[in-house]
Amino acid sequence: MKMRTKKCTRFQLFLLIVSILTLAVGCSQKRTKPPQLGLAPAVHDEMQQRLAQPYDELFDAAPDLKLSPSDLEAMRKHVRESQDYCTTNAKAAAKKFETQTDDRLAELKRLGNKIEEGKRHDLHCQIQDLRSAKAQADVLTQQLIPVAFDNSRAKIELLEKWPSDFRSIQAEIKSETYLTRRWSNVNEIGFRDMEKDQKDDIKRGQDAVRELQQQSAMPPELDNKAIQDYVNTVALRIAGNSDLLIPLKVVVLDSKEVNAFALPGGFLFVQRGLLEAADDESELAGVLAHEMSHIAARHGYKLMKKAMISSIFYQAAQVAAIVLTGGVGGVGTYYALQYGFYGLGFALNLNLLGVNRDYEIEADQLGIQYAWKTGYDPGGFIRFFDKMASKEGNVVGASWFRTHPVFYDRMVRAKREISFLPKKEQAILQTTAFEEMKKLLKQQVVKSNSEQDKKRPTLLTGGEQGCAATKKLYKDTDSIEAICAQFAEPLPSAGR
Ligand SMILES: [Zn+2]
Repeated sequence: MKMRTKKCTRFQLFLLIVSILTLAVGCSQKRTKPPQLGLAPAVHDEMQQRLAQPYDELFDAAPDLKLSPSDLEAMRKHVRESQDYCTTNAKAAAKKFETQTDDRLAELKRLGNKIEEGKRHDLHCQIQDLRSAKAQADVLTQQLIPVAFDNSRAKIELLEKWPSDFRSIQAEIKSETYLTRRWSNVNEIGFRDMEKDQKDDIKRGQDAVRELQQQSAMPPELDNKAIQDYVNTVALRIAGNSDLLIPLKVVVLDSKEVNAFALPGGFLFVQRGLLEAADDESELAGVLAHEMSHIAARHGYKLMKKAMISSIFYQAAQVAAIVLTGGVGGVGTYYALQYGFYGLGFALNLNLLGVNRDYEIEADQLGIQYAWKTGYDPGGFIRFFDKMASKEGNVVGASWFRTHPVFYDRMVRAKREISFLPKKEQAILQTTAFEEMKKLLKQQVVKSNSEQDKKRPTLLTGGEQGCAATKKLYKDTDSIEAICAQFAEPLPSAGR
């Protein structure tokens, strides 16, 4: 008997993953009515307010709140049902846009050669607009809604668990058992046995960067030497106080996305939006130190090694392939990328970035140590994280939270590490160099925005020319509550 081993192509594997994901999403409940309050209105309102508060404030408030287990459970149920309701509505919207697209495609087919040019153009523009609307609804279902509700869940867990976790941290300090935690030897930073073969990742990182550039997916570099120099200076200062044993290459990209990421081998990319969102140098330092930790601890390498599809660096390449081969599945994502609803943070392979729960916790710990050793207030990273979870709109934060997933353990472990580090007098929060950079950035953003359309990364060119600008279903600064409410009402008629 002849045994035949079937080797899957990357494309088949990709389709398999897509179908698994679709199944997973499809399994969530279908809730068509708004959820009822499971709590007395006053208790519910107070809890809602708490969930809108920054993590830092909740750490302080939690011990005095005395919430009952049944209150917490009712709130958890409410969050779950709200998420299901919002997802159901967003999916219905996506379906409607899809049906409308199909109707117009059928009309084009029906009219065939008899169609008048103006009518054809009009239908093409409508289809383009509807596909874009569908892509936006898909982004909402798959990215924005889960992220927003993950934050609520993490905050409920904080209210529930922090009082006892706080006591155990105090006990660890008192008994000095904290001195035996992993990476406790902070006086040996740069000389401890972390990952000696960091240099082996350099080629891997270079390949990934090249692939991104070849796909035209990498936003352009920010055309401002002073800002590039400033970010480099801060990053290199931290690198000198880290476990990094290879040179660091730091580039600021001209993209409004609020994110930064490190590729294996010492490549650190900071997006312009992150500089806009940061309010002081310790926040920027916290993010840079976190990303550097992924490089030093070789998280990308370790995950790529374990990953089933080790050679896929970049999802957008798959998307482009699907579009080129005429598959319909990728069209929505293609439009999302094309019109900037997705940023790089959505397209990058999380394995390549070294993102999983354990590695995020480790990178938080190491990053906090590096920022601290450089002389910064080590709370910068948490403060920045918190800002993304609280003040910024959900759309703005979605890319950040895809590559920096939020969960209770992460917040508490970061808080814990800070409380174990020896306090430094005069830890740096703000510098005049940072403030100078912000002034330059303001002018630069005006300039960049006016040139944005020319610079937007595109996977493919083409499409119908001369249509009105594509409509946005939601603004970058909208909260998830506002977006969900909008989708619960009669849907806006896109494509008209
Ligand atoms: Zn990370």
